[in-house]
Amino acid sequence: MNILKIVILDRDGVINHESPEYIKNHAEWHPIPGSLEAIAELCRRGWEVVIATNQSGIGRGLYDEAALTEIHDKMQKLLKDLGGHVKQVFYCPHHPEDKCACRKPAVGLLKQIADEYQLDFPFKTPIPLIGDSMRDLMAAASGGCIPILVLTGNGLKTLKTLKEASTSSSPAENATIQLLTKILMKKTIVCEDLATAVNTLPIFQPDTPTDTPTDIPKAQPA
Ligand SMILES: [Mg+2]
Ligand SMILES: [Zn+2]
Repeated sequence: MNILKIVILDRDGVINHESPEYIKNHAEWHPIPGSLEAIAELCRRGWEVVIATNQSGIGRGLYDEAALTEIHDKMQKLLKDLGGHVKQVFYCPHHPEDKCACRKPAVGLLKQIADEYQLDFPFKTPIPLIGDSMRDLMAAASGGCIPILVLTGNGLKTLKTLKEASTSSSPAENATIQLLTKILMKKTIVCEDLATAVNTLPIFQPDTPTDTPTDIPKAQPA
């Protein structure tokens, strides 16, 4: 069986600094220290790195696809200098009110990745998905990915949400969300940042037999 080592990264808050004003052009795109080096390290270790990112700024009319391409060209150029490369960027350009199938927590982007690599979907071989927001983790849980939360970007807020959900006795208004949150509480791996997350990945290599971690490990010491 041909098992690819694919890792899916969220972009904003994982690779680059998040902005409430959106990242509208390449000048506004600033990598989080260590993140590009971490991607280069993934490449060196034989991982195919893809990005799955919500870019509703396009649907909101704040920037266009050409500006998004320029942003990703900048990222790839900086990565190239480090010996790294993102294989493909899968993005959702829609406004949240479009109710599309690709805006995370929906799984449309993950489905596109599965199609691209000719993998079953939801993924049978769990593929790590590294994100900073609840919607990344939700998509990961729905798509059969291993959810990895980094504490950059929205990560600390997301961790708090996850912990509150695990101690809350009040029933969630939505049974699906409740179920997903339960799965996430069990399965989410918490890492300080992308560089730390990269070092948790070797345990998922197909040639290394291991159980899927079922507890939330403590964040790595700084
Ligand atoms: Mg994010
Ligand atoms: Zn979409």
